[in-house]
Order: sequence, then structure tokens, then C-alpha cells
Amino acid sequence: MVPAILLKNATTVHLFPPAIRQVDLRIQSGHVIAVGKGLTPEPGEQVEDLAGRLVLPGLVNAHTHLYSALARGMSGPQEAPKNFLEILQKIWWKLDRALDEESIYYSALIGAIEAVKAGATTLVDHHASPNYISGSLKIIREALEQIGVRGVLCYEVTDRNGAAGREAGLRENQNFLENQTNSQFGALVGAHASFTLSDHSLRACAELAQQNNCGVHIHLAEDGCDAEISRRDFGRGDIVNRLAEAGMLSEKTILAHGIYLSEDDLKIIKSRRCWLMHNARSNMNNSVGYAPVQHFGERVSLGTDGFPTDMFEEARLAFFKGRDAKNGLGPADYLKFLSAGHQLCAELFGAPFGKIEPGAVADLIILDYPSPTPLTKENLAGHVLFGMKADHVAEVMIAGKFVLRNKTLIGIEIENIYQKSREVAAKLWKRLHTL
Ligand SMILES: [Zn+2]
Repeated sequence: MVPAILLKNATTVHLFPPAIRQVDLRIQSGHVIAVGKGLTPEPGEQVEDLAGRLVLPGLVNAHTHLYSALARGMSGPQEAPKNFLEILQKIWWKLDRALDEESIYYSALIGAIEAVKAGATTLVDHHASPNYISGSLKIIREALEQIGVRGVLCYEVTDRNGAAGREAGLRENQNFLENQTNSQFGALVGAHASFTLSDHSLRACAELAQQNNCGVHIHLAEDGCDAEISRRDFGRGDIVNRLAEAGMLSEKTILAHGIYLSEDDLKIIKSRRCWLMHNARSNMNNSVGYAPVQHFGERVSLGTDGFPTDMFEEARLAFFKGRDAKNGLGPADYLKFLSAGHQLCAELFGAPFGKIEPGAVADLIILDYPSPTPLTKENLAGHVLFGMKADHVAEVMIAGKFVLRNKTLIGIEIENIYQKSREVAAKLWKRLHTL
């Protein structure tokens, strides 16, 4: 049996409902196996004194696009996009078409490195690379495996690159679903959005998900154009009903954004128990409006939608966006959203996430957080939103194994990777500008 790790004198923090305890933790075979005061070391056990450092469940980025990682600093189009559709056409749909094997790998690698350093232990990714579809998810998995972070992957099926592109996207999802052997990975069926998928294509995605007993991961009502174009091109502007009729709305399905939703839409989504992911920073950046996150119900978590994974920052920005919109939510609601990411993982991986108790999955982060004020369960939300930062994350354990120690990724030659990544990004940008 693998030797256990005993973490002495931890201050464990549960995000929601908030709880703080001073305890010792024993970790073995990927799980927390004991929690209590005064646990005594056993022979052969690795013992570490945390001296009161904070231990939190690892954070979850519930909707992202790792392929965006190499877009940082990329020059924009000559003529600035005037709306969301033009942002897609002039920037993101060019970037994804320029992706090749090397740039898919390096973007995933950089995205995973930055995520772990910021205390995220699971990435729910939505990938697109129309000129390198087959095998793209395997490349992302390899990059994430190298860093040790969990991933839930899918390929974005769309009609925007013709029938052959759609079929190749479906096949990539199917291949990944069928050849999924690493228990640190999950798989969904990816679909772009209602406005780039015909009824036939939506049904094909839903059927593939049903055959594999998984959900669909799709953008929904990120902009008003989702309904408008669905009406213009497919004769249907009622996008939630379209997804429902295609058989896509189940409790395993992830809907990202949900900005332009009516009360009836939300009623349907909630009755089907779908997940709704809020991406506040991305929504602000694309000027697409305010998501009515206060009406999203219980199954809501947060995603960065391609921005670097820093869930402390994302929660903070979501909170401020909500304050600005006077949405009535308070700091604790955003801890609830972060915590819902653990429930999502529990459902996707079929194991207890987000708890620090015997039997729970040992995805843990250790923070050096020098609090200038008392930290209690009553004021935890204030500390998380206004004090804690990615920079406080010192150690990260995923599936019971340390992957980050003293802010350094174990066995990863960061400088070489970043040097190579800059070269790969420069080539990617050059290709993109010829498209
Ligand atoms: Zn997205």
C-alpha cells in the first residue's frame, strides 16, 4: 500500500456552508482517510506540520477554453469587432482555425500550469481546432496529465465548418469518450451554440451524449445573436426549447453563460436540473450584458471562459459585476458558486469532492494567507473575496499527490516550457494573420 501522508495542524476551510477547523489530516491512495485532532504518526508515514496554514478543497474552473492560453498579447483585427459575432469571427474563430498539434499542446500545458499555481485542480474544457480535430482531445489530456491536473474534456461540434467539420467533431467526442481510461479525466459531448448548429446537428450531439450516458457542454444565450441567428437560419428563435426538443437538456448537461434567458427558459433549465456556468469576466470583456445569475437556481458554478484559470479572481470579479448590476447577491453566494464546482466534480467523477473528511477525494490546496483580521466561518466570504489570492497558493495536492510544492510545480521545467511556448505562440499568430 502507498504510504500515507499526515498533515498536522491544518486549518481546514469549507467554502459552503462555511466551516473552519483546526485538525490533522491523513491522506492515502488519493483520499482523505482520517481527520481529527492529535492524529499520531504511523510507521513509514510522511509527516508535515502545516503550523495552521489554510487547507481548502482544490478549486474548479467549470467552463474554459484552454486553447485561448496563447492568445495573450496577440494583436487584434485591424478593424475592431463591433459586436459579439464579430468578436468570434475576427478573433476566436481565426485563432481556433490556426491551431495545430503543437499549439494545442502548449496552450493546454500553459493553461494547466497557471491553473494549478492558482489553486485549481479541475478544468472543464471546451475545445475547438477545426484544422486539427482528430486526436486533439488526447493532446490536451497529455498536457494536463503532465501537470497532474484533472480535466473534463470535449470537442466543440459546430456546423460553421460544414458537414465534414461537424462529423469530425462528433467523431472526436466519440473517440475520446470510448478511449477514456484515466480516472482523473471525464468526458462530455461538446457543442458550440444553438446559432451554429442545425436541429439535425443538435440531435446528433444529444444522441451521442445519451449513448455514452454523459452530458453536453454548450454555450447558451451568451449574446442576443444566439436566438436571432437561430431564428434567421433555422426558423427557431426559442433556443432553450430547441435544445430541449433535441434531447440535450439533462442534469449532466453544462450550459455556459445564459445571459439572454426568459423566466420560462430558466424554469425549463431548472426543471431539467442542467448546470449553468457563469463567466462574469468574459461577459464583461465581450460587453454581452448581465447574466441573471441570481435566478439561475442551485446548479451554478463559475468559469473563466478562456481567461487564465484563477478562480479567486473570477469569483471576485463575478461578485463586483453582480454588485454593479444590483443583483442582490452577497459574498457568500459566490462561495456557494465556487463550492458548486465540487458538486459538479462529484457528479462527473462519481466520488466525493469539496469536502475535507474521511472518504473525500484528496484534491487540496494549501494557502499561506497572512490574515490581518480574525478569520471565522461567519466572515469567510469576506476573506475569500477581498483577501485570498492565487498568489497565496503554496502547495497543491491532486488525487492525494503533491503537484505543487512551495509554489513550484514538481518535475516541470517551467522556463523551458515558457520559452518554447513563446515560439509556438509567435508561429500561431503568424498563421492566424494569414487566415
Ligand atoms: Zn465559452
